[in-house]
Amino acid sequence: GCVIETRGLAKEYRMGSVTVEALREATLSIETGSCVAITGPSGAGKSTLLSLLGLLDRPTRGTILFQGEDVSRHSDAVLTRLRARFIGYVFQQFHLVPVLKVLDNVLLQLEFAGVPRSRRRQMALEALEKVGMSHRANHYPRELSGGERQRVAIARAIAKRPSLLLADEPTGNLDSANGERILDLLLTLNREGTTLVVVTHDPHIAAQMQRTIQVRDGRLVSEPASVAQGRVS
Ligand code: ADP
Ligand code: ADP
Repeated sequence: GCVIETRGLAKEYRMGSVTVEALREATLSIETGSCVAITGPSGAGKSTLLSLLGLLDRPTRGTILFQGEDVSRHSDAVLTRLRARFIGYVFQQFHLVPVLKVLDNVLLQLEFAGVPRSRRRQMALEALEKVGMSHRANHYPRELSGGERQRVAIARAIAKRPSLLLADEPTGNLDSANGERILDLLLTLNREGTTLVVVTHDPHIAAQMQRTIQVRDGRLVSEPASVAQGRVS
């Protein structure tokens, strides 16, 4: 099955009289358990696509099926709940809450996800264990290195066991050794069953995914067969 399927997605940004077509006719499916890279030059529409796949923004046209359900009929409140429960986000800038210790950063996401209080602590500690950060549970983000912060951000994203893990340039702020370790961690999580979508301009990262979706000028380009059809399946 597929975690997410899109048909004819388009996104336009209007700024006064100017309309930017950031994404056009994007049809794709992300299969459960797969790992997919989204690549393309700056301004191509990668972040726009990722925010639509992550249900963070609504398309101008087209449909998104998330776990088989058309999400266009859902209210913002329902979308917020779906994101909190089923989607994990990892960003270039980590976005940890600075006033909360590592463990509390993870616990907060589990609360947002609707996990009962009695189960949160164990799930948070398991996630920190998985990324090799349980020994830092009682530290503040500022006490950690960049690579450690990204590990915690990944623990926060996976603790609720999301159906989809989205990462936007997850190694963009790390040196190459730490970037490599974060990539290995993401690939390990994928092998253990987490569906992974990574936005990256790094061909080395893209090469390690099962599939690459290239975005050029708001259009999806993939393997030659799909290019001919103007779509990615
Ligand atoms: P990428 O992530 O590949 O760099 P983006 O999805 O950020 O590309 O941007 C695609 C296009 O949409 C660019 O032309 C960008 O300037 C434009 N764009 C993105 N976000 C907005 C916005 N909020 N308002 C107006 N234009 C935007
Ligand atoms: P970027 O590094 O791409 O600029 P942002 O911080 O702007 O990322 O986040 C993009 C969107 O994701 C924003 O709407 C933000 O509210 C949302 N967001 C950030 N962190 C989370 C999270 N942990 N869970 C859900 N949504 C998030």
